[in-house]
Amino acid sequence: MPAYQPFTALCQAISQPRTSGRADLHIHTVHSDGLYTPVEVIDLARRSGLAAVAITDHDTLEGVAPARAAAVGTTVSVISGVEITAERDGKELHLLGYFVNAEDAALGTALERLRAHRVGRFWEMVERLRGCGVSLDDEELQAQAAAGVLGRRHLALMLVKSRRAGSVREAFTRYLGDRSRLNVPKLRLPVAEAIALVRGAGGVASWAHPTYDCTRDSLMALRDQGLGAVEANYPSFRQTRMRELRAWAVELGLAVTAGSDCHGPGHPSRAVGACSLTAGELEQVRSMAGDKVTR
Ligand SMILES: [Zn+2]
Ligand SMILES: [Zn+2]
Repeated sequence: MPAYQPFTALCQAISQPRTSGRADLHIHTVHSDGLYTPVEVIDLARRSGLAAVAITDHDTLEGVAPARAAAVGTTVSVISGVEITAERDGKELHLLGYFVNAEDAALGTALERLRAHRVGRFWEMVERLRGCGVSLDDEELQAQAAAGVLGRRHLALMLVKSRRAGSVREAFTRYLGDRSRLNVPKLRLPVAEAIALVRGAGGVASWAHPTYDCTRDSLMALRDQGLGAVEANYPSFRQTRMRELRAWAVELGLAVTAGSDCHGPGHPSRAVGACSLTAGELEQVRSMAGDKVTR
């Protein structure tokens, strides 16, 4: 055992900010509707002093491996995650899956089906926009398709770029919102099926940004279907709501998760690390995963 640190390790230690042990468990990348690459996310996490991040792209695990590669040699660890579009009682519910095995066949097939539907939905919305006299640049559409990321948010950004809307918000209000006739509904998995897929892949399922329909009773019902956690810290939540969710989690034997839901720059309240979990809370989530292998 050398009595001193090797020079390279010493340099590395000096160049890394002291980590707080905090973990941001809800971050999107360019692999779904985020604007940061996994490399940029890791850089931001490192600079924010985070000990861990979960890459939780919509319906894909593709951002996890590049984030892990980028994290090599840093103090940031990367948890495999995914945000699945699900449905409960006819309403959309986002389900976060953590520590899932990226090689799991059933989860992989289901995510592929959701992604395929997302692509079809994108082109259908392009057609509907065209039908209303709003044509988008073909070259840009093809470039977006080649990048493999086709979400409603990307369409909104294109509408802003082509000056059809002044902002993403306006693009949603005028053209793409849930109630607009130009919007094509998303494919949503029944929440019980989504939970079973996450658990089948060895993961822990958490109710993402639970809104008003997340009550003690609905949490208990989902816990009985295998839900392991609830996202109790989220940028838009009031303190009273966070306390309420945490109290229910304790009472119902659920873990808590927390995350910024960062989709890119421009929203300081949703920056990487804006909402985070303590190291102890993260260990509680990890301890609920199907096996104890770090994923
Ligand atoms: Zn969500
Ligand atoms: Zn999200």
